[in-house]
Amino acid sequence: MAKRVGAKGARSANGARGAKSTKASAAKSAGKYVYLFGARTDGNGGMKPLLGGKGANLAEMCRIGLPVPPGFTITTEVCTYYYAHKRSYPLALRSQMEAGLAAIERQTRKKFGDLRNPLLVSVRSGARDSMPGMMDTILNLGLNDQTVEALARKTGNARFAWDCYRRFVQMYGDVVLGLQKGAGEDHDPFETVIEGLKHERYHQDIEDTKLTVDDLKELVARFKALVKERVRREFPASPWDQLMGAVGAVFGSWMNDRAIVYRRKYNIPTEWGTAVNVQAMVYGNTGETSGSGVAFTRNPANGTKEFYGEFLINAQGEDVVAGVRTPEPVVQLKNQLPKAYAELERIRQTLEKHFKDVQDFEFTIEDGVVYMLQTRNGKRTAMAALKFSIDMYKEKLIDWKTAVMRNPADQFEQLLAPVFDVADVARAKAIATGLPAGPGAASGQIYLNADRAVSASEKGQPVLLVRLETSPEDLRGMIAAEGILTARGGVSSHAALVARQMGKVCICGAAAVEVDYATRTVNVDGRRFTEGDWMSIDGTAGKVYAGRVKTAPSEIVAGLIHNDQAARKTEKFRNFQQLMTWCDEATRMDVRTNADTPEQTANAIAFGASGIGLCRTEHMFFEGDRIDAMREMILAETLEERKAALDKLLPYQREDFAGIFRALKGHPATIRFLDPPLHEFLPQTEEQQSDLAKKLGVPVSRIHSRVAQLHEFNPMLGFRGCRLGIGYPEISAMQARAVFEAAAMVQKEGIKVHPEIMIPLVGFKMELDLQLEVVHQAARDVQAEQKVKLNYMVGTMIEIPRGALTADEIAQSAEFFSFGTNDLTQTALGMSRDDSGSFLPQYAELEIVKKNPFATIDTVGVGQLVETAVTRGRATRKDLKLGICGEHGGDPSSIHFFEKVGLDYVSCSPYRVPVARLAAAQAALSTRTGA
Ligand code: ADP
Ligand code: MG
Ligand code: MG
Repeated sequence: MAKRVGAKGARSANGARGAKSTKASAAKSAGKYVYLFGARTDGNGGMKPLLGGKGANLAEMCRIGLPVPPGFTITTEVCTYYYAHKRSYPLALRSQMEAGLAAIERQTRKKFGDLRNPLLVSVRSGARDSMPGMMDTILNLGLNDQTVEALARKTGNARFAWDCYRRFVQMYGDVVLGLQKGAGEDHDPFETVIEGLKHERYHQDIEDTKLTVDDLKELVARFKALVKERVRREFPASPWDQLMGAVGAVFGSWMNDRAIVYRRKYNIPTEWGTAVNVQAMVYGNTGETSGSGVAFTRNPANGTKEFYGEFLINAQGEDVVAGVRTPEPVVQLKNQLPKAYAELERIRQTLEKHFKDVQDFEFTIEDGVVYMLQTRNGKRTAMAALKFSIDMYKEKLIDWKTAVMRNPADQFEQLLAPVFDVADVARAKAIATGLPAGPGAASGQIYLNADRAVSASEKGQPVLLVRLETSPEDLRGMIAAEGILTARGGVSSHAALVARQMGKVCICGAAAVEVDYATRTVNVDGRRFTEGDWMSIDGTAGKVYAGRVKTAPSEIVAGLIHNDQAARKTEKFRNFQQLMTWCDEATRMDVRTNADTPEQTANAIAFGASGIGLCRTEHMFFEGDRIDAMREMILAETLEERKAALDKLLPYQREDFAGIFRALKGHPATIRFLDPPLHEFLPQTEEQQSDLAKKLGVPVSRIHSRVAQLHEFNPMLGFRGCRLGIGYPEISAMQARAVFEAAAMVQKEGIKVHPEIMIPLVGFKMELDLQLEVVHQAARDVQAEQKVKLNYMVGTMIEIPRGALTADEIAQSAEFFSFGTNDLTQTALGMSRDDSGSFLPQYAELEIVKKNPFATIDTVGVGQLVETAVTRGRATRKDLKLGICGEHGGDPSSIHFFEKVGLDYVSCSPYRVPVARLAAAQAALSTRTGA
């Protein structure tokens, strides 16, 4: 696989015009590879797969009359072609690009490479989904030693012309020629040259804008020398060579490490490819009436309806994002360039009215005139997404179904994340403030570089990544961290962007925080922090605290679980409730919970669960003295001994079930009978074993021999599940009795009870039948003894392939199926989940598996078993109840699959219930509309 594209990739790209590629591309030469935008616009906003997100929206903005510099988009098909044909292009591309460039020349009245009025272009990547920071843009392309003079003459602004040239050589050197910092280098080599010159000539770090024409000329010369020295080639002077090199670099960057890491995290298929946009330059660096900025139509951190963003006067785009100079809030433009500000306000309204969603856009002001360079749906925190969706519904921009769809289900859990404890935070000392870029509270031990952050987090430490600013190289560290704190950079800095997307707690631009990479220390407020020291950040308020601050539950958790009245009055809580009401309206599937205790059950019910989908009874055997009775049962040598031990366990189980039934308030509970192999209950160390021997008054040798006897080579496939109940029917009899006695008891208290007894690991109908007999017998006995009528069901877990394949037979006996997708995945893939850590990461890297099959259901393989079981099961029993209780029940994309195959409910852990309700509603809405 190709790694980072450097000089080599770019060179072969240029070579692509040679004879070799002619044959390969002939077949496709009839295709349309280039789409214009500007006076004539070929594409539109709906063409993201072909034109990429940036290209499609540039076209769309042209269509609605927004001021966009003209240009053209090279399609993603060319990218696919490029990789399928040894990094070469379709034959027809060149002539189509020439036509595209001619169109730009006509509209701008400039000419590419001209010596009177040269046209400069930007070359910009644009994948289908925006990939912040992944692809590099090249500005001011078309400059060389001659055209730079022409530009200076034409504009009468030599400083501007040389500033453009300086930027161009730097960007091109980096992105296309691959001149980046080497292994031992801490800084970008170009930046080192700039710093060197500043110190040589001014003895200090002056701002870039203070550099003179002569300084800039000198920089260009030194940059070129650096290029020659490091990459051993002349800087290309021909604008066309520059252009083709840049296009190749954009395509090449699709396969660079950063892009690959990002795609893996967000599950973006490699096949999608990127488009390339070539666009006439507009200049934000001509002086004090020019500038460049990034803005959101509303606040993407907390959702407030306010114009949000930032700009830099006398700057080109990258400056704002790079965090080199700290930009000013966009509302400041009102004073500095009022006309441009009014125009931006108008554009802000137009964008929201047209796209009906919050937009994140990039603009440049050239001599007071505003140009639009990009717009896309703004990335947002879960908190902002919630507020946007409710507000835009109230403003009648969207309907309630769209509002539901606007909340990303996989981020939704952020809303339940803790905030700082009010009392504890009042005691804590705020040592700095910065921009609140990612809401929430995070405490952690500080680390100043991504690698060390990752390894600390692997050791189980909560980590706070503290940096001057972040760049895409830090991504792994950011993923590992609880929170991110940067000293520089604004709301559109890399750190803020990534935090917004990943839902990380983040503060940016906390200028008082002095980060010293060399000594690995942070100085702030007269105190010194070393790596490993604790700090806390409040990303909602933008405050940094020394030490560890305690956290408290979010308003939603406080309101629902603790019935905290103040929390229930907050906007966040009310918006959440509104959204959940809509979800209930939309959803077809129910959401149940996996819970083993009354407390977990009560929490899940408060979160809106409609019952228990999986109650694992084995957890009940570990608490307190119960484990002793359990062990006694396992060690029993006769049926009588075993029954005596089981009699001791019965009251415990009955109590547990009664508690759960009460907490359920009439909702159903699926109760799974004993599942794990028995040896899991026995003590493993010598010491524990002799303790147990004493306690039970048996010789320790008996314990040894029982442990040895129970030893298995593959416990996951061993004596477990219904095999236990078949081997020892008295265990199932005890469990059934406990369930029914508890049911009778709670029912007499006036609470409805619906137990659903679930037999695990069934592969043969006969297995289920044997257990059914035991269960029904217990039910008859208890009903007679207690003089009650109980409402119960018996069903099975479908978790081994034979069970799925013979579902028609099994459904003759089972009243319900619950898919145990954890074991079903293990058995279908023949992969032990607990051992998959040694090979699965590589499988993900090689894309053998697109997603972790234990987190997101493998629809192609395991999914077939589910579908088969659904079809065959329902063919036998029309009203067969179907649910899923594996880990996948809380995973949004798996939930979409379960909706498609028509399950009745999903079940997940209590704190995932809101996520699952949202995902189930979205799945129902999109399945209905065929999306
Ligand atoms: P990214 O995908 O990283 O956002 P872009 O292609 O949007 O990269 O380019 C980054 C910035 O470069 C833009 O925000 C804009 O300020 C500047 N830029 C790109 N193209 C042009 C152009 N034709 N004229 C002026 N500035 C441009
Ligand atoms: Mg951009
Ligand atoms: Mg199982």
